[in-house]
Amino acid sequence: MPDALITRTPSAYDYPLLIKNLLFCPVVDAPQQEIVYRSHRFTYRDLRQRVACLANALTSLGVKRGDTVAVMDWDSHRYLECFFAVPMIGAVLHTINVRLSPEQILYTIDHAEDDVLLVNSEFLPILEQIRGRMDTVKSFVLLNDEPTVPESHIPFSGEYEALLAAASDQFNFADFDENTRATTFYTTGTTGMPKGVYFSHRQLVLHTMGVMSVLGSAVGQGNFHRQDVYMPITPMFHVHAWGLPYVATMLGVKQVYPGRYLPDHLLELIDREKVTFSHCVPTILHMLLKHPHAGRMDLSGWKVIIGGAAMSRALCLDAMQRGIDLFTGYGMSETCPILTISHLTPDMLELSAEEQAVIRCKTGCSLPLVDLKIVDSARQEQARDGKSAGEIVVRAPWLTQGYLKDHKASERLWEGGYLHTGDVAVRDELGYVKITDRTKDVLKVSGEWVSSLELEDIIAHHPGVAEVAVIGQPDEKWGERPLALVVAKPDNAVTEKELTHLVREYADKGVVTKQVVLLKVKLVEAIDKTSVGKVNKVALREKYL
Ligand code: AMP
Repeated sequence: MPDALITRTPSAYDYPLLIKNLLFCPVVDAPQQEIVYRSHRFTYRDLRQRVACLANALTSLGVKRGDTVAVMDWDSHRYLECFFAVPMIGAVLHTINVRLSPEQILYTIDHAEDDVLLVNSEFLPILEQIRGRMDTVKSFVLLNDEPTVPESHIPFSGEYEALLAAASDQFNFADFDENTRATTFYTTGTTGMPKGVYFSHRQLVLHTMGVMSVLGSAVGQGNFHRQDVYMPITPMFHVHAWGLPYVATMLGVKQVYPGRYLPDHLLELIDREKVTFSHCVPTILHMLLKHPHAGRMDLSGWKVIIGGAAMSRALCLDAMQRGIDLFTGYGMSETCPILTISHLTPDMLELSAEEQAVIRCKTGCSLPLVDLKIVDSARQEQARDGKSAGEIVVRAPWLTQGYLKDHKASERLWEGGYLHTGDVAVRDELGYVKITDRTKDVLKVSGEWVSSLELEDIIAHHPGVAEVAVIGQPDEKWGERPLALVVAKPDNAVTEKELTHLVREYADKGVVTKQVVLLKVKLVEAIDKTSVGKVNKVALREKYL
């Protein structure tokens, strides 16, 4: 039997899922909506023109389909323009993690075979250091926020604004295969060199639609709509700022780009621009809330997706007390990234703050089209009982199809036809997933699995604790003992005894396994973070074990 393929009328248009199509509706339907960066205010109409100018400027620098254009910038309107213009001309956008070491940045530039590099003047010292050793970059474009052009030995082809001003604002963006690579960036692997992941136009369009469908259909909280004001607080170089700039643009939402993340500037923007929708990792929210200005501000109604790491109930309750609508998202670099969102149903919103926080801290339910399973080591799906833990494996239309030029690691990632996240989780009968650990971070204490995240959550609840990270300390008798590294709040003398006592109380109540009483506590000045602001357990293990 032949397949029931559809018959295509010769003149029918076969609509490709291309990034350019995300721009059509908003520029027509919300042309006056604003995009804000420093003193710049552009409309969506300007965005469309500037994207065309950038496409012309890049083309005149020799960029053609299949070339790679890399960007080193903080979050800006320019970055948003690159999110569109670069893939729209069929080139690949490489978003460089500017927090990596110069040697790692050089490695990613060579590995991605960047042809053109757009660089913020702030990073010129790094560029000067590595330029002589770059293999592929042919042109450099300067991104400058300062009144004067800085001195440099880099042979720039021009400054961004000057190149745009000289370019035509008309560009005919041709159709091409939706499976064309649109973006690439490197995961900040905690061991070895960073690994490149990559996403096609089709994947980014479907991710945008998937995220929009779940945020747009939320009732009672966590909804994202055209009257919101959006500001990212996860960097645009990391997983396209979770893809939210594409969603915001598609929805025609006012967008605010904060540049480098400085707490007082972020708070000032939230206040001045009336920001209502953001996303960040827990450590950034924690930093914002403890800033002296935050106490004087009205943050109520600010909707924030927390992801990238587990949110503690203490942080969640603190934010809820200030009227912030906090909820969790989960994903990883390899997954574009969003896989789950933890929205509350209207009846859950009737629960007490404590009860709501438990749900808000879960990692939520799968997005439409996401086939997410929690499996044991024999790849059998675990029961949805909120207790049976296993690894999250996933299929979705927007997962990286491999690691760039790394066949072995790609095969491991996709072993058995599902993408392996390396995250350990449970799922309850309502479908809410809760991450309990990374496969590499999980502790085995006296033969029992102990969740480091659960322990961190309990310890963070103590009023004297500012930050905590739990790692496993090898122990002859017990295999491993949990070691909690704790940063105390400045005016609070928390002791090891108080914390071990607190954990024992939870064990006595049967909330956590009794193995946790083997906990050791060490008070430290600070907890090491990765380049994207998450707790760096590899560095902590190296330092303290
Ligand atoms: P990255 O690739 O740097 O974005 O890191 C992805 C990893 O962050 C995931 O594999 C998880 O281990 C962790 N992660 C992301 N979101 C959450 C979350 N909501 N709760 C707990 N861990 C998370």
